[in-house]
Amino acid sequence: MLKAYFCYNKESGANECALLVFAFTSQEARYMAFKTSLLGDEYIEVMAELIKETFIFKYGNQEKITKQISHVVADPPSCKNCGLWYTDHELINNLCRHCLEIME
Ligand SMILES: [Zn+2]
Repeated sequence: MLKAYFCYNKESGANECALLVFAFTSQEARYMAFKTSLLGDEYIEVMAELIKETFIFKYGNQEKITKQISHVVADPPSCKNCGLWYTDHELINNLCRHCLEIME
């Protein structure tokens, strides 16, 4: 089964640029993220963390998820305030929970 991975460059940090990658293993996710060139040109700096929350599959290409094809989502829906797309929950009114709490 396809899994979701949060991929980022460990030197520049997860806030700088993070990709959502659907792949079968973390190694595959790392390699796919690296190949986009969006996370720098050092393979060893590219990290892939498994995302356990299942809502994240809504952010993928639904056709590819159904057909179980690995793919990269470079620009998943993100919080309109802080720009983060992955915390541990779904966005509410296009805001992450953290920003939602600040604005309340
Ligand atoms: Zn936010």
